[in-house]
Amino acid sequence: MALPHGRDDSVGRNAEPARRFGAEEALALRVAIVTSEAVPFAKSGGLADMVGSLAAALTRRGLDVTLVLPAYRCIVERTDVAATGMAFPVPAADGIERTEILEGVAGKNTPAWFVRADRFFDRPGLYGQDGGDYEDNADRFAWFARAALALLARLGPYDVLHGHDWQTGLAVAYLRLQPERYPALASARTLFTVHNVGYQGLFDAGVFPSLQVDAAHYWPNFEFYGNVSYLKAGLTLADRLTTVSPTYAEEIGTPEQGYGLHGVFSERADDLVGIMNGADYAVWDPATDSFIARRYSAADPAGKHDCKRDLQQRLGLPPADAPLAGMVARLVDQKGLDILAGALDALLSRDLQIAVLGTGDPHHEQALSGFARRHPDRMAVRIGFDEALAHAVEAGSDLFLMPSRYEPSGLNQLYSLRYGTIPVVRATGGLKDSVKPFDEAAGEGTGFLFEDYASAALVQAVDRALDCYRRPAAWRRLMANAMAQDFSVDRTAAEYAALYASLLDRAD
Ligand code: ADP
Repeated sequence: MALPHGRDDSVGRNAEPARRFGAEEALALRVAIVTSEAVPFAKSGGLADMVGSLAAALTRRGLDVTLVLPAYRCIVERTDVAATGMAFPVPAADGIERTEILEGVAGKNTPAWFVRADRFFDRPGLYGQDGGDYEDNADRFAWFARAALALLARLGPYDVLHGHDWQTGLAVAYLRLQPERYPALASARTLFTVHNVGYQGLFDAGVFPSLQVDAAHYWPNFEFYGNVSYLKAGLTLADRLTTVSPTYAEEIGTPEQGYGLHGVFSERADDLVGIMNGADYAVWDPATDSFIARRYSAADPAGKHDCKRDLQQRLGLPPADAPLAGMVARLVDQKGLDILAGALDALLSRDLQIAVLGTGDPHHEQALSGFARRHPDRMAVRIGFDEALAHAVEAGSDLFLMPSRYEPSGLNQLYSLRYGTIPVVRATGGLKDSVKPFDEAAGEGTGFLFEDYASAALVQAVDRALDCYRRPAAWRRLMANAMAQDFSVDRTAAEYAALYASLLDRAD
């Protein structure tokens, strides 16, 4: 059977040596990225943005990148995803589940493959619905790990297998523990990226036998306070680890931020590096953004005013000139919603409008919606996932709020900088690495930061921003500084390319 993307099946199976040092022409490094989310196919948060845009940027650099995802319902329904005719059996916890392989293209020309098993993935959500996780997530993502490796072993060889977050911890683990099952991948080095240590893929220890891993590995690689952790499996068994900002790489080695895994991170400190995520400016740039009311740029910022009016109109806010603070987030504890709730009475007493777009924990959704109902002229809340509105909030807001309890990287503050929407952020993780405090006298800096995880500290930071907003020259300077920042995903891709090469002892 002829495979797409110029790969011939017989060549693919014909395990060429994975590393060909000293070849006259440098061969493209072959990277298989296994992930549970990637734009444009499936997204619940920044993981999808990062993986999808990183894969495309690596391809632009000349690497040979392949993506593998589960064939969720939202993917099967896409018109740009097609059946390949390839199908094979994959072990599941309770028998064998046959997979069919679908294919699509990410970015301009990154091949993406989808392993289909409708029993596991033909559902409305990625990991759960109605505020709860799917009960069989342990089985779903163990199966996905095996199916992804089995597929890659047919497509391979690859130089690097790159997994992301707990959903792919087992892919990394299986390749290390059972390489004989995936001969074409046996020489691949493994990289595992943790985007958020707060999500660990914890399951009842009773699932362990179904993982079909030698019991000797239970304690060192899987056990986490009496449970099984898919994240720990990836963290302890990958050749190298990354996380998504330099500050977060340090924070997760501490008991406060390591979520019980700080010991693992400390032990693997030499193998762990923090690489700041980057923004895909092909998607997030007010000069080219097709979702926004009027395009604008640092050189010609006039359109931002129209975007603000458009946002106010969409959200039913009065067309006031008061500063408008936006927020787009998964509405979960991590995002600082409790200190925001504690700050809202004070913030809503200021000359300020607030626009929130998000979805997540019902109690946060209800609390925010309650504020909006009580202050309809000041605050608007939209519950739901709405890509177009997310762009409109970035473009139409003056400030962007990210009072996160912790923030491994954060992408929204990077988008905000580009849109001249000044970030007001807690000094944690990637927020600290990407937003620099505005120093009006020196004319330097890009936003407002606060240290204490407290409502009062958030209010003070917003007050500093509002004070600056009242001085147009200072605010213009601040906006210009923000819009001049370069947090492009191409920089991120350059760092990953160098890391892949170092995994193979090869020059980038
Ligand atoms: P996290 O990865 O923790 O969710 P990030 O700031 O890194 O946070 O990335 C969030 C991404 O998800 C951004 O692209 C943001 O625009 C998007 N996003 C989050 N919630 C929504 C929503 N309700 N509607 C549209 N986009 C959203």
